[in-house]
Amino acid sequence: MDNNHKMWSDLGMNLELHDQLCEVLPQAFGDVFLSQENRPEGMDYYNMVVADIHGIRPAELIEHQNKGGKVFGTFCVYVPDEVIFAADAIATGLCGGSQFWVPGGEKVLPTNTCPLIKASVGARLDRTCPFFRIADMYIGETTCDGKKKAWEILSEDVPVYVMDLPQMKRAKDVKAWAEEIEALKEKVEEFTGNKVTAEKLAESIKLINNKRKALERLYNCRKSDNLPISGTDALVISQIAFYDDPARFTQMTNKLCDELEQRIQDGVSVVPAGTKRIMLTGTPLAIPNWKLHNIVETSGGVIVCEEMCTGTRYFENQVDETKETVEEQIKAIAERYMKINCACFTPNSGRIDDILRLAKEYKVDGIIDVNLKFCNLYDTEGYFVERAMKEAGIPVLGIETDYTDSDASQLRTRVGAFIEMLNNR
Ligand code: SF4
Ligand code: SF4
Repeated sequence: MDNNHKMWSDLGMNLELHDQLCEVLPQAFGDVFLSQENRPEGMDYYNMVVADIHGIRPAELIEHQNKGGKVFGTFCVYVPDEVIFAADAIATGLCGGSQFWVPGGEKVLPTNTCPLIKASVGARLDRTCPFFRIADMYIGETTCDGKKKAWEILSEDVPVYVMDLPQMKRAKDVKAWAEEIEALKEKVEEFTGNKVTAEKLAESIKLINNKRKALERLYNCRKSDNLPISGTDALVISQIAFYDDPARFTQMTNKLCDELEQRIQDGVSVVPAGTKRIMLTGTPLAIPNWKLHNIVETSGGVIVCEEMCTGTRYFENQVDETKETVEEQIKAIAERYMKINCACFTPNSGRIDDILRLAKEYKVDGIIDVNLKFCNLYDTEGYFVERAMKEAGIPVLGIETDYTDSDASQLRTRVGAFIEMLNNR
């Protein structure tokens, strides 16, 4: 038994089923990523992370646990990693992005639940993902109805702590969110046995801010006329940001950005001049969901920005680093997080403003509004998004999809027609 199999077996995983996943992932990664031309050398790091996705990082998390540390699994960009790292614990993203996990979720959830929730529940209950096995506690949130009920199901199998996210953005809601962050801090302190001090919190605020700044730098490179990196590569970096060691991720992403900035200076582009620049907006694309990026970028277009939680919503805005007491720091964290514009808020006009702003900054030619099947929130909000884009004269294509490949050829036809229309404008 090799080291990874021994680790997975010790985690109580279903090895037979998990081996099936391990067989298809390298092929999928090779088809989507390694077939691209002129990739930056700095992508080698992320290739390596994905190649051993269920090996390297899980082993690090277990090592942390063996030293007495705790690991918390999270599912939403509203859950503040800063508080978790300040208690010498590790936060890791757990959103499932593969169809492989969906049937396991469907055993306990209605079929008309979004694939992200079904995959996340299936990955835990089918015991086919080491991250879902390793996490000592899951942190849920009251964002959408499907998730709220999923926490109740998961809590029968693993400790789950749920944060009550307000769904409006009045001053009293920001205050309520700060109270929820304070309650999370108390829970994390109790669970880890470690105190969250102002010094510790200042360190972790910096740690996570630096990660956001590195991602912002990466995205800034995508604003350039000559594009030094594909959207597909940028997406996998955003996805890895959710579970990699934050300091190492920041270092490797900054190193990649050095190369990308040099490419911009040298006039190196991964696509021919004039390639239509597309922005995606909508529901998150959890790893390994690379479907739409692959379709767009093998149909003559290129993705330059994602207004998504696996995109700008994750890194825009920093937490104020000047606060000195835990109370002030928590208020600053709450203020930063409440600037994220998710469709679970009402009203959510800030998201429309963001999309219009990003369309200008990234010089986009067209927008694809992508919605995960059965996500009622983003589907409904698509009405406002698409209307605002039409009013602004930005071509928009609305797409609803899931993790299966059954609609891939239909999507390819629609995306191809959209890009052709942009080319003929
Ligand atoms: S789409 Fe909303 S609920 Fe989902 S991760 Fe993003 S902020 Fe959280
Ligand atoms: S995509 Fe929509 S339905 Fe799915 S978890 Fe996110 S907000 Fe909920």
